Amino acid sequence: MVLSLALSGAFRGGAPPSATEPPTLVIALDAGHGGVDPGAVAGDVLEKDVTAAITTRLAALLEDLSRFEIVLTRPADLTISNRDRIAVAEDSGAILYLSVHANASDQASAHGIEVWVDKSRALDDDSYLLAQHVLETLTASTEGRDRGIRSGDLYLRHADMPAVSVEVGFLTHPHERERLLDPVYQDAVARGILAGVVAYLEPSESPVADEGS
Ligand SMILES: [Zn+2]
Repeated sequence: MVLSLALSGAFRGGAPPSATEPPTLVIALDAGHGGVDPGAVAGDVLEKDVTAAITTRLAALLEDLSRFEIVLTRPADLTISNRDRIAVAEDSGAILYLSVHANASDQASAHGIEVWVDKSRALDDDSYLLAQHVLETLTASTEGRDRGIRSGDLYLRHADMPAVSVEVGFLTHPHERERLLDPVYQDAVARGILAGVVAYLEPSESPVADEGS
């Protein structure tokens, strides 16, 4: 498919001269919450279940590209500290950390998509570039409302790699909650995030990169 073709040129410069295969890139995916921590609760809907479904789908889509090794920081419904999630990502040599969450608000009308970056990150940190790509492709894929890139005091500050937290929608918004429970919409969310990750990893659209291939 088009995405994998584009990627095949993207990392050629980094491959050892003798290598016939481009290097596999490790991506850490984090399904927010889990175990005793349900995250946001809206009726009988638990955030941890929504984040697990979307993250599982996203992992499968990334693996289909055959260029990535996916590390799941929470591979099942387990209680795992945020520190341990980061440690799993760092130990695996992940080049980016992407956490999936669903939002909640006292205002039932609140809806849409946000991508968060820890406030300790400089504006030229790659986390912002990743956030920008994911927000753009995710809102396009879902037609969800763009609530922008946000920064706050997050545990992501402990990650030694670009790290973002994606709030894929509001469980407190009746229509958005319904969509987030729909596997078809979950697939659209996963594909939206996927496209953002791939766009982030493509350093340039310059045709010069393909010279001599
Ligand atoms: Zn959350």
